[in-house]
Amino acid sequence: MANNKQYGIGTNMIHAGVTPDPSTGAIMTPIFQTSTYVQSAPGEHQGYDYSRAGNPTRQALEDALAGIENGKFGLAFGSGVAATDAVLRLLAPGDEIIAANDMYGGTYRLFEKVYVKFGLKFTYVDMKSVDNIANAITANTKLVWTETPTNPLINITDIAAVAAIAKKNNILLCVDNTFASPYLQNPLNLGADIVMHSATKYLGGHSDVVMGALIVNDKSLRDELFFIQKSVGAVPGPQDCFLVLRGIKTLHVRMDRHCENGAKVAHALKNNDKVAKVYWAGFEDHPGHEIAKKQMRNFGGMISFELKDDSPENVKRVLCSTKLIALAESLGGVESLINHPATMTHASIPREERIKNGLTDGLIRLSVGIEDVADLIEDLNQAIG
Ligand SMILES: *Cc1c(COP(=O)(O)O)cnc(C)c1O
Repeated sequence: MANNKQYGIGTNMIHAGVTPDPSTGAIMTPIFQTSTYVQSAPGEHQGYDYSRAGNPTRQALEDALAGIENGKFGLAFGSGVAATDAVLRLLAPGDEIIAANDMYGGTYRLFEKVYVKFGLKFTYVDMKSVDNIANAITANTKLVWTETPTNPLINITDIAAVAAIAKKNNILLCVDNTFASPYLQNPLNLGADIVMHSATKYLGGHSDVVMGALIVNDKSLRDELFFIQKSVGAVPGPQDCFLVLRGIKTLHVRMDRHCENGAKVAHALKNNDKVAKVYWAGFEDHPGHEIAKKQMRNFGGMISFELKDDSPENVKRVLCSTKLIALAESLGGVESLINHPATMTHASIPREERIKNGLTDGLIRLSVGIEDVADLIEDLNQAIG
């Protein structure tokens, strides 16, 4: 932002990192659709030499990302998993990572199917209990990877408690903050070292872009991650950066409605006598409710549920019966989506592993959008039948 005044969270969403274009006065950050930049003499330029290393549209987005996460530095990547990949590249063969046993399936796939063969070792624990993390630490543990609320079981991890253990043992803590978004939760404030986002979801907010982000406070960590970003090259293009910048400007308004609709849909599902269980951290009997209340500003719009009749036929029937809510992967857009984690977003996790951690074959995940909530509830009720 142009000055150092502390603004409110909504003002920050609109203005963080963004200043009018000095060359034209354009209020909106231009899309600098260029790969290279003229130099007045070899090595003499205006701060940009090649767009893999830096691009003004991407820079504005990276500054905005830092601003809205209360961090010092932002880095944008071509996807959420590319951002996760950059964090793993901080490590070396023999290093150990403690990760959540319930998290996005693509993160698990990257860990197990790509990085195990490079000599990284992953231990998966139930992070509802911080003791499980403490007990899994060895002399080689270099990173704790957590996600809260988790995808898809909406489990809550106490970020401040994990950060304290990580700090004591000199271990980096990275929090995947995709489900909460920076409007509901700021892990750096709670002691995390790295915040990761799939900007594809709430930050972009309109299901029209794939992107990832990392936000940090430590300059040397930023420099290491910037070196990886530049050297590995998983960078987003300027058009996509523009779209996420535009998305961020309405994040607070959208999230308020996601939360409001999420609460109403969660209660409607709970009151539906064909529904066996609803996963949403806003319920007082949710095991992570108190921690969620402490570390989040609201409970978000992601909900999972199980049907009493959880036969494959009935689950499939319900998934195929919504009229307004589309059956699709992804989340965090203005439109509501319904998803079957076992066969869609989390199909890369072995079934036995999945079921052991509570992700049943019948689980249905909802990304509650910002439509009129009565229409959503009516659609779900008719689909459940
Ligand atoms: C989607 C998602 C990712 C991966 O991000 P992409 O942008 O799809 O690469 C990581 N974590 C969570 C929680 C997600 O929902």
